[in-house]
Amino acid sequence: NRRVVLANRPEGLPDNETLRLETAPVPDPGPGEMLLRTIYLSLDPYMRGRMSDAKSYAEPVPIGGVMTGQVVAQVVASNLEEFAPGDHVLAGSGWQDYALSDGTQVLNLGPSPEHPSWALGILGMPGYTAHAGLLRIGEPKAGETVVVAAASGPVGATVGQIARIKGCRVVGIAGGAEKCAHVVDTLGFDACIDHRADDFEAQLKAACPDGIDVYFENVGGRVLYAVLPLLNPFARVPVCGMVAWYNETGLPDGPDHGPQIMGTILRQKVKMEGFIIFDSFPKSAQMEFVSDMTGWLKEGRVKYQEQVIEGLEAAPGALNDLLEGRNFGKMVVKVG
Ligand code: NDP
Repeated sequence: NRRVVLANRPEGLPDNETLRLETAPVPDPGPGEMLLRTIYLSLDPYMRGRMSDAKSYAEPVPIGGVMTGQVVAQVVASNLEEFAPGDHVLAGSGWQDYALSDGTQVLNLGPSPEHPSWALGILGMPGYTAHAGLLRIGEPKAGETVVVAAASGPVGATVGQIARIKGCRVVGIAGGAEKCAHVVDTLGFDACIDHRADDFEAQLKAACPDGIDVYFENVGGRVLYAVLPLLNPFARVPVCGMVAWYNETGLPDGPDHGPQIMGTILRQKVKMEGFIIFDSFPKSAQMEFVSDMTGWLKEGRVKYQEQVIEGLEAAPGALNDLLEGRNFGKMVVKVG
């Protein structure tokens, strides 16, 4: 049983000392337990937060503890009535080959789900984040302009496609020409701007001639500062993530943007609302998401791109790639 544990809390970007691959015996399930074998491990930006013991909405991974993560696993042996050997499950058993579970917070996907890994992406946490954050906080209306960064990633790509379905003009922001082409040509956004371009701010302004009504905040940093002057009165800003700052070790250089941010919120009467997908919305929000998304996928109205990494040993490097924008689509690790 291979597993990746947190060896040290990183300063800045995780390095070779941060995570350690270990082996341990495969455990035996006791009464009321089952043994799970991981097939796919999801890699997500929040994992950087779990490496830190700074105050957060969730407990950090303890030093020496197995890195947290959602997985799709197969039941190997079970002493639980609701789970049979061969069943696929969605579980939170983390970065390891095998894990014991008592079935708490485990979703049974059945013996042969059509796309098992989709439970980690478009039909799982990132898809639900996009749906609930956009529709319940962003409240987009037909004809409005919606802007979202990390636009080729699982959250951003889904936000933009849902906004298109709702009749909005959608402008994505992504790193590099290849991602931008995908966002427009395959995902159907109206435009996509490369945030690394020298004249990024001017390009964004030109792409939003009627200003911005909904800015779905995924990244912070330069993108946020470029968006602020373009926000229309009564704009909505669901604050979902700030990946540009996850590896910051101190305050950034340059001017203090506090007055610009607060001044914009005040003058433009902006609604800016943070959310954490696990506990911000009622149960009905998740049911609505599953019903909408299964329909849209069936009708081909939503497209989904995955990047599959081979092998648990490749997971630490792949997480850094994700944090620095070297992923293309939802990153999952094929573990076994
Ligand atoms: P992605 O797969 O899109 O990965 C992150 C992407 O962020 C990178 O690929 C990169 O894309 C972009 N990025 C990184 N650094 C910068 C930067 N400095 N400026 C602009 N873009 C940058 O991630 P997800 O779709 O899984 O997650 C998107 C966001 O949603 C994250 O902030 C995440 O933490 C948040 N989230 C929040 C949840 C909640 O409950 N609030 C739940 C789930 C996710 P590119 O190359 O295009 O720049």
